[in-house]
Amino acid sequence: MISADAALKIILSSISVKEEIETISFIESDGRVLAQDIVAGFNIPPADNSAMDGYAVISRDTEGSTTSNPVELEIAGENRAGGTDHSKTLTPGYAVRIMTGAHIPQGADAVIPFEDTEETADRVKIFRAVKKTENIRFAGESFLTGDTVLVKGTKIESAHIALLASLNKTEVAVFKKPAVTIISSGDELTEPGPASSGDKIINSNAYVLMNEVKNTGGIPSNSGIVKDNFEDLKKTIEKALNGDMVICTGGVSMGRYDLIPNVLKSLGAEILFHNISVKPGKPLLFSRIGKCFFFGFPGNPVSTMVSFIEFVRPAILKISGSLLYEKPVVKALLKEKIHKQAGRKHFIRGRFTIVDGLFNVVTTGNQRSDMINSLRDANCLIIIPEEVETVEKNTVVDIQLIRHGEIDATG
Ligand code: AMP
Ligand code: MG
Repeated sequence: MISADAALKIILSSISVKEEIETISFIESDGRVLAQDIVAGFNIPPADNSAMDGYAVISRDTEGSTTSNPVELEIAGENRAGGTDHSKTLTPGYAVRIMTGAHIPQGADAVIPFEDTEETADRVKIFRAVKKTENIRFAGESFLTGDTVLVKGTKIESAHIALLASLNKTEVAVFKKPAVTIISSGDELTEPGPASSGDKIINSNAYVLMNEVKNTGGIPSNSGIVKDNFEDLKKTIEKALNGDMVICTGGVSMGRYDLIPNVLKSLGAEILFHNISVKPGKPLLFSRIGKCFFFGFPGNPVSTMVSFIEFVRPAILKISGSLLYEKPVVKALLKEKIHKQAGRKHFIRGRFTIVDGLFNVVTTGNQRSDMINSLRDANCLIIIPEEVETVEKNTVVDIQLIRHGEIDATG
């Protein structure tokens, strides 16, 4: 049995970026992964401009100015944002009324805000000295022509969309989304809906996985329920192999009807690992069949969710071209005692609160892997290493923030 860390390493080293690219409008690009560097085609800001509403001045003219003894300058005109007349030239003794974003006139080297002045008939009193360059935004100060402003592998968010718009990049090349097929195996399963009744177990895994795959940037498709029957399983899996990835729940444990490993072998699959030292989700199976990757999850809903977060989400991100695979792990003060057996790494459903700016964490109660209520209440996973048995109350532990996106924590 291999460790969780070793399992993730095998997954990330087996999977490579799907090098298929499509070009889309930047307006539709939220959540997509850039397949190209974005390089500035012009300076931002395009010209020297004012950061304040006020007066463009020659800083030397304002030396020694105070409220009680203001320098007075003559107003030589006005520059407004979007104005097209950039011909004004400032000479000593003059000021140009200027609005935020407007061109700095030739000769001016500072802007004094309105609040530090008083205007009276063509003249302005300056109530303080301004420093050279004060309140001027210089051309190219944010980006120079030729600067790389976003790198290939960036997952696009709102700030990136602002950049794309500012740089007039109306079309962007992004990686195509990976196609992920979801199979639910088990004789006991039935679909949600009016016909569901009796002692059947209603298929929840397929729907949580559809949602998670979509949120991770994949295109999910649902193959529905398959009975614990060799031929049916084989046919369904074979059909799914034209996609990039398959997630199949159920049928990988030690039961008599857990047929998945043998079905995979009959399809010529290479089993990269089966069983890892984690709880929940020990029977996790990872395999390659041709160019398609196969994840077999134990059927319990909690195992499904935790296995997805820890192992499949990084896989989908990697195949999608993203540079980030890790959800944030931070330190928290454990507010109850935890006891477990040594031997497996535990991902314990937890709920953190922030007390005086510090993370505190408690478990969400019963950790049985069929109990979805413990997941509903969780906003993190408390990570307890393999060898640890007891963690006392008020010990600092690692928690993973499962409702947050991946971050770059490398500094
Ligand atoms: P298995 O891994 O096939 O031994 O299943 C473990 C447990 O998970 C059993 O109690 C199943 O009823 C349950 N289970 C399996 N598949 C699903 C599913 N798609 N939705 C909800 N529960 C499931
Ligand atoms: Mg089963």
